[in-house]
Amino acid sequence: MLKSTKKTTRDLRRSNRLSVLSTLYFGAPLSRLDLSQLSGLSPATVTNVIAELLDEQIVRETGSLESDGGRPRTMLEVNTDYGTVVGIELGETHLRLELFDLTLHNLGFVHYTLPDSEKQPDQYVDTICRGLDELIITCQKPVESLIGIGIGLPGVVEHDSTINVYAPQWGWQKVPLLEMLKARISSPIYMDNGAKAMALAESWFGAGKGYQDLVVLLLGTGVGAGIITQGGLYRGKSNSAGEWGHTKIVLDGRSCRCGSHGCLEAYVGALAIIERFREIAPNEFPETSDQWAVLGRIVSLAEEDDPSAKKILEDTAHYLGAGIANLINLFNPELIVLGGWAGLNIGGVILPRVQHFARSYALKQPMSVGKIGLCELGQDAICMGAASLVLEGFFSEPLDKSRRSKLAPEKVG
Ligand SMILES: [Zn+2]
Repeated sequence: MLKSTKKTTRDLRRSNRLSVLSTLYFGAPLSRLDLSQLSGLSPATVTNVIAELLDEQIVRETGSLESDGGRPRTMLEVNTDYGTVVGIELGETHLRLELFDLTLHNLGFVHYTLPDSEKQPDQYVDTICRGLDELIITCQKPVESLIGIGIGLPGVVEHDSTINVYAPQWGWQKVPLLEMLKARISSPIYMDNGAKAMALAESWFGAGKGYQDLVVLLLGTGVGAGIITQGGLYRGKSNSAGEWGHTKIVLDGRSCRCGSHGCLEAYVGALAIIERFREIAPNEFPETSDQWAVLGRIVSLAEEDDPSAKKILEDTAHYLGAGIANLINLFNPELIVLGGWAGLNIGGVILPRVQHFARSYALKQPMSVGKIGLCELGQDAICMGAASLVLEGFFSEPLDKSRRSKLAPEKVG
């Protein structure tokens, strides 16, 4: 039986608010008439939503503009001083917390390197709480100004009746991380897979600005993708869409951390690239366990014409090109963005070969409209993405009255 698609009044209010606030956020300064034309909402609806947002002091007037023959139009913008947002990258080797204003201008950060012995959920919760305290003190911003906290993490973040995390590389199965954090933190918390968070940030603020259909690839210790279709994240039934790293690239191939074999991640994840290099060039392998440093060493050896390093990078480009061709055939994106810390490290060197192999494997028609480029947000991309998750929630949900009174500056007059 077909499900009813009838929207409730609450759904409509949320969607109108999201539409007005996001249009203003990315296009300010705008008048009410501009907002109506750009969002497709009626002038009366825009006027009502703006009245609510002005009352909440989320939007402010920024002067007026003469119009041809008519009354001057009042211009509006989002009040960037309204509050702050924390974006957290919960990585496999590190935890990074950044504080942003409402336009995602960075106000400061704290960064911890995590030993393998500290990868249990309660240890992450402790470190996040410690990091938040340190971040607030470092940036000298009152905790009351915090609108929300976003967290991007590896693995599947199941959005069901509760939010659970599955991260097989740490042995995490159905970990109720959000509930564990809520027991310690009073601010609203938003949580998603790091590649999805990064895709949101790149599409709003980075390489994907202005594109409606794109795929953002996260190459780190693990490998994932965030798929944006018609301007929004594609999630699938239980929010696991985009587990591109575990698509199969070699039958009965190398063992993967997910327990399967032949996954793309087992060839192009940072750990896999390093392992492949160690196998063919044990004598050239640098004496460090720092994955970033080892990848950097492989790149510099390749630039010195070292045949082993050149082969590893060529093979990596080959596997990536094939994986990207699969995405192009499946999703017909206008843009594919290569990012993540390992992507940043080797992307500039291998991009032309990745493009070459993708072209040779993808169908001609979708390939002809699909560009492949590098991410623009650099190391901040996941934290910005996590903060974007907060903005997404903030745009569509009015804050409860008690929080609003704490956050909003005193009204004058
Ligand atoms: Zn796998």
